[in-house]
Amino acid sequence: MINPAVALPALLSQPLKMLIDGKWLASQNGACMDVINPSNGQVLVQESLGGAYEVDLAVQAARRAFEFGPWSRMRPSERSRMLLKLADELEQNGDELALLETLNTGKPLKLARAFDIGMAAECLRYNAGWATKLNGETRNVSLPGDWHAYTLREPVGVVGLIVPWNVPLAMAVSKIAPALAAGCTVVLKPAELTPLTALRLGELIQACGLPPGVVNIVTGLGHEAGQAIVDHPGVDKISFTGSTLVGKLILGSAAGNLKRVALELGGKSPVFIFADADLDRAIDAAARGIFGNTGQVCAAGSRLFVHRTVADRVIDGIVQRARQLRVAPGLSPDSEIGPVISARQRERVMGYINSGRAEGAEVAAGGQVVEGEGFFVQPTVLVNTHPRMKVVREEIFGPVLSTQLFDGDSLEELATRGNATDYGLSASIWTRDLRLAHQLVRRLRAGNVRVNAAMALDFAMPFGGYKQSGWGRENGREGVEAYTELKSVAIDLN
Ligand code: NAP
Ligand code: MG
Repeated sequence: MINPAVALPALLSQPLKMLIDGKWLASQNGACMDVINPSNGQVLVQESLGGAYEVDLAVQAARRAFEFGPWSRMRPSERSRMLLKLADELEQNGDELALLETLNTGKPLKLARAFDIGMAAECLRYNAGWATKLNGETRNVSLPGDWHAYTLREPVGVVGLIVPWNVPLAMAVSKIAPALAAGCTVVLKPAELTPLTALRLGELIQACGLPPGVVNIVTGLGHEAGQAIVDHPGVDKISFTGSTLVGKLILGSAAGNLKRVALELGGKSPVFIFADADLDRAIDAAARGIFGNTGQVCAAGSRLFVHRTVADRVIDGIVQRARQLRVAPGLSPDSEIGPVISARQRERVMGYINSGRAEGAEVAAGGQVVEGEGFFVQPTVLVNTHPRMKVVREEIFGPVLSTQLFDGDSLEELATRGNATDYGLSASIWTRDLRLAHQLVRRLRAGNVRVNAAMALDFAMPFGGYKQSGWGRENGREGVEAYTELKSVAIDLN
């Protein structure tokens, strides 16, 4: 359902091409596929399916731009200015980008405008600052004689960036921005389901005057275009966000030329609500933390642990919110929750809900698809869940919360229950007792812990996972240094 008052972005007026070496190309063999609007199942446009041939062109272009082209030799302040200019372009075209994101993912337009596009622009600005601040150091060596010793931070080279469909533009930018700030050149592969904003970003990158080959965008299937990037000997580093399963495949393939690999993978994050917490805020945040973006968030708080004395009030509060949230196409002005990304994802989410039922969980809210066009699933709360159930162990990546109670548990026992997962991406703790909060923070095996808050994303804060939630960190100094190599230089002054 496209609101007739909304003009369709020009990008959708013809089949989509790929950005390779500053030129827009269709795939050489003519392969393409439909891009679907998950709010109604209709075709928005066709995208090109690139493969090994296109990836090779893109890697060669990125290599030229890196070795000979202006990018890695450009003054850091110029790279910084380009990133700032791109942030301005993004904001000036923010309404159109948000519309594209909403058409392609179904998420509420307001959310896309404020969060997805806003975050992407902020990310560019944050990383623009690092371009001029990446330094080596002098070192006091104890070698015999007289030495001048120092380190150099150099860009790692050509990087392959592979991103998922849940937050398409912001994910792409969260990798492109630090990579460019560090002086790398890029081959980006968006998710096959969500190429729109990445390609519009490509147009804006050109409008900003970034030299050809610095950013190349190859659309296509994971096992073809994605795999070709991972296999290519001309790629120095892969930064991947997606499922743990594909992350493991990528690690294997990257062994060929020992590419550096950064992985941001899945999660099954615990939320602890203690009896003394500000319950209204905790309820609100717990609901937003699992239903926001239709639960398609790697750091979603999908396992609730609530103290028995406040369990009724907390679970009832979340159930009320689940029932009240307006599930509707992202272009409906009152939409709060959009569809899941595809029919396949809807089946997957429903499969989990049904497995929960079969294993004895009780559905306190939701639990059904929304009939009619589009891929909508009701916000769902499962009670009487047990750690052995599939819904508690596996990442659902949908609007499904599982709940468990605690009572006489020691801090150690509670942490053990929270840590009883292969993942370790994030956690939140709700209590007014800061001593307790700090003690639990230290016991949780998770990369991102929030106290009396849900997501709280900030580009200054490193983001990433323990255990099978990933390798490495994005954001902060660590996030940009991840796109560099460190060189030690020692000069004998004798
Ligand atoms: P996915 O299947 O792992 O795909 C992610 C990306 O990898 C897509 O671009 C995909 O292409 C590509 N890909 C698939 N197979 C590949 C291969 N063999 N070689 C190279 N690339 C390949 O994940 P998804 O289904 O799109 O996204 C959902 C998952 O991502 C969830 O598990 C979620 O937890 C995780 N996620 C994690 C974070 C984080 O920051 N930690 C953020 C968001 C999502 P296709 O689109 O063509 O399949
Ligand atoms: Mg996939």
